[in-house]
Amino acid sequence: MQPISIAIDGPSAAGKSTLSRMLAKHLGFLYVDTGAIYRTVGLFVKRNHIGPKDEPAISALLDQIQIHLQYDETDGLQHMYLGEEDVSEAIREHIISQYASDVSTLPVVRRFLLSMQRNLAASGNVVMDGRDIGTVVLPNANVKIFLTASAEERARRRFEELKAKGAETSFETVLQDIRQRDHQDQTRATAPLKQAEDAILIDSTHLSAEECLEIIVSIVKSVQARQAEQEIQNGALQE
Ligand code: C5P
Repeated sequence: MQPISIAIDGPSAAGKSTLSRMLAKHLGFLYVDTGAIYRTVGLFVKRNHIGPKDEPAISALLDQIQIHLQYDETDGLQHMYLGEEDVSEAIREHIISQYASDVSTLPVVRRFLLSMQRNLAASGNVVMDGRDIGTVVLPNANVKIFLTASAEERARRRFEELKAKGAETSFETVLQDIRQRDHQDQTRATAPLKQAEDAILIDSTHLSAEECLEIIVSIVKSVQARQAEQEIQNGALQE
């Protein structure tokens, strides 16, 4: 049996990681957060005092980066490592979001991370979330979802999240930041954020995470049933 892959793409703060984590748990699949991988490259670049769009300098340093993922045995959560250091917390800093968005515009970085992401998907059944999973990383994914919500609703959710963590920021700043990252993700030349032709669009503006999960689980089930039918037909043809 080929491993099953589910691609979940969409703009920042659309709820991709919450939903992908819930979905992976529900299906017993591995959850791969590719944004965390780009964030780890962003952190590496910042720590090396390189400008996040300085392609020649970043390109020269990429072969020194030791980046890997590990899953916590107790909670199953994805941890990011730079060398021996667990940087899972450090990559969530606000400034690293911008570094990640900037380094992700560089073809050299995207090329560098492509095989890593494909190898992860080949290792078993996965739910992988990002910006270009359905279009570039896994164009043959079994299920493709494009999850979005209005910029205001995404900013509201991110603002509540930050407020709960005690961060001092305003709704307007968060909204502006989201719009700026949307623009950069959608207009970059390499692997821009866009809905794959065969992806199913889910607008979560007025939906809870549970409602989105229910929709996606039913999509996955119908795709799996269709594929099982196909395999039976192919088997019958070969006999
Ligand atoms: O998903 P998250 O906000 O953590 O991702 C951080 C940044 O990494 C995004 O703003 C986006 O620019 C970039 N990214 C990407 N391709 C992916 C995942 C993330 O370009 N597959």
